[in-house]
Amino acid sequence: MAHRQRVKAEDGAGQGGPGDEKTCAVCGRRMEWRAKWAANWNEVRYCSDACRRRGVTEVDRRLESAILELLAARAATSSICPSDAARAVGEEDTWRDLMEPARQAARRLVAAGEVEITQGGSVVDPSTAKGPIRIRRRRA
Ligand SMILES: [Zn+2]
Repeated sequence: MAHRQRVKAEDGAGQGGPGDEKTCAVCGRRMEWRAKWAANWNEVRYCSDACRRRGVTEVDRRLESAILELLAARAATSSICPSDAARAVGEEDTWRDLMEPARQAARRLVAAGEVEITQGGSVVDPSTAKGPIRIRRRRA
């Protein structure tokens, strides 16, 4: 953070304020504005140091593609489980390690407006949903 150049917007628009939100570029969870981000809100991309360090990998991008491809191959009304994407990208003995990355990929796709995350057939908030989730194409 110390190395990041601070940009001061003339009109203050870049500083954000209480109530502003954005989505973490890695985990896809909602980030609510905090005073410590006032100096560079427009440039904030990660919710935490852990997400900043982790970044988005090639495998993460493949998981996003797998989700979209699996959904495209099915009826518009059907859904998939994150494990379907994890299995599509991982190997027989490694796909379980991709379960959380697959959930993160699904959350990033929600933020991108591509998919919805559901539980029990209802759309849920990706940032707070606990337990098994399903992924479906976004419905108009
Ligand atoms: Zn994050």
